[in-house]
Amino acid sequence: MSDDVIDDLLARASDLDARSPLSATRERFTLPDGVIYLDGNSLGALPRNVGPALARVVEHEWGERLIRSWNEADWWGAQTRVGDRIGRLVGAAPGQVVVTDSTSVNLFKAIVGAARLRPGRRVVLTDPASFPTDLYLAEAAARVEGREVRRVSPADAPRAIAELGADLAVAAYSSVDYATGELWDLEAITSAAHDVGALACWDLCHSAGAVDVRLDEGGADVAVGCGYKYLNGGPGAPSFIYVAARHQDVFDQPLTGWFGHARPFEMARDFIPAPGIDRVRVGTPPMLSVLALEAALEAFDGLSMSEVRTQSLSLTSTFLDALGALDVGLPVATPAEDARRGSQVSLRHPDAFAVVQALIARGVIGDYREPDIVRLGFAPLYVSHLDAVAAAQHLKEVMDGREHERPEFATRRAVT
Ligand SMILES: *Cc1c(COP(=O)(O)O)cnc(C)c1O
Repeated sequence: MSDDVIDDLLARASDLDARSPLSATRERFTLPDGVIYLDGNSLGALPRNVGPALARVVEHEWGERLIRSWNEADWWGAQTRVGDRIGRLVGAAPGQVVVTDSTSVNLFKAIVGAARLRPGRRVVLTDPASFPTDLYLAEAAARVEGREVRRVSPADAPRAIAELGADLAVAAYSSVDYATGELWDLEAITSAAHDVGALACWDLCHSAGAVDVRLDEGGADVAVGCGYKYLNGGPGAPSFIYVAARHQDVFDQPLTGWFGHARPFEMARDFIPAPGIDRVRVGTPPMLSVLALEAALEAFDGLSMSEVRTQSLSLTSTFLDALGALDVGLPVATPAEDARRGSQVSLRHPDAFAVVQALIARGVIGDYREPDIVRLGFAPLYVSHLDAVAAAQHLKEVMDGREHERPEFATRRAVT
């Protein structure tokens, strides 16, 4: 590759970094030296303040204040307090988001709860290319409700929805495809569902914290999302669930635990749902993880999601441009059009697993997804344009040197 091409790419990237309104947010994270981290869509990086905040919670709120912290430190209200913080990032007015359970569990609650608002309608519609847990839980939700799942690509969803008409209960889609990074039109699919009297459930795992999702404006009915990806809440951070205010008082979610009770400390024999979003809670949450997520969300302080989105698109387009300029030659699975791209770039290669291992050996951390995807996530708060160009250069060198053919890159461990 020519040095001129590289120098030009690097100069442009460093200029973009210097002019970015997010140039300082990288300082809010600890990132190891020598690593270009392109896997924040699987496990977000560690915000600097989380360790000290968590140490204080452990030593003071837990160690000193013990059970009193449920009131004194408002552990009781933490799930909705953190929920509102996430609400700001996904276009939800306060009182509609709560942090609880895992995404898998919340998908079940959201789809069952939405289906119960549309009794007598047989079909739950979802994407055949969904993340597997989304497919499994859509099936599980349909089974307990005596409904059936139909699988139709989001590209064809508006037409399929119109054809299903009064048979459709819920259209359950992801706003960004986890494998290809394609961004789907939340507003169009939601309004197609509403046109036939059905509801829309959105999975925001790959959009919350990177794409300027507008749940309220787009008319979404229910949504779920992940706390440990672009929101940086840490491994196993709790998920969030959104129920639009207009549905809350009739929302009948299936897992009626005591944290969702109207008066939990009356120890009543029968379940009475709490008013508002609290009814979507189930049992005692992992409080250390809820509070780690709360601290992590401070990394978004002072940023608008439109700035975050602009940065994300600028990073992925810088990477795509560099791939082209360097003639890397791997087919791109992610749409080139800004309006259809989430915050990742996915490339195809028959030996994608080994390509990812070879990149990791060079300090460029991305991940592999079946069957042939090299997946590179560009977390807008801490990935720079220089990282994007350097990653493309590493990939070019891996391919030119056929490094992925080395035997040590063929071994798969438990987590790919
Ligand atoms: C990451 C992800 C999940 C994760 O679900 P967990 O219950 O947290 O394991 C689910 N769905 C999608 C689309 C995801 O990207």
